Amino acid sequence: MFVDVDDTLVRSAGSKRIPIPSVIQHVRELHTQGAVLYCRSSGGAEYARSSAEEFGIAHCFTGFLPKPNVLIDDQTAAEWPRCISVHPSSCSGRSLDDYITEVSCVDYASTRHRIDILPLLYQAGPDPILRAC
Ligand SMILES: [Mg+2]
Repeated sequence: MFVDVDDTLVRSAGSKRIPIPSVIQHVRELHTQGAVLYCRSSGGAEYARSSAEEFGIAHCFTGFLPKPNVLIDDQTAAEWPRCISVHPSSCSGRSLDDYITEVSCVDYASTRHRIDILPLLYQAGPDPILRAC
């Protein structure tokens, strides 16, 4: 899971930075649930890291990345299988389990594919969720 910084974790008004508590809490909850999270920003990896540190959630992330400028890929990002985009205003209240269900339903409804994506989203830990879509 990739989490953006600007206008996702924080808003800027002039030189003032205003954290977005609902998304910061969401990151904490997903981490607790075992999600594999990366923080990325157009401002670069170090900006992503320092922002996560600023809000006390750096430990929730596996890594920090810049956003890409060029994608060399046979598919556009919109065509990537098992990939959903979630606006920060609608993430509150969702769980890792909810995302697994949504991602599983994007292209595949079978249990087999559901198991395939679990390692991508989970670090380990919780029992696999095998609910059918
Ligand atoms: Mg942004």
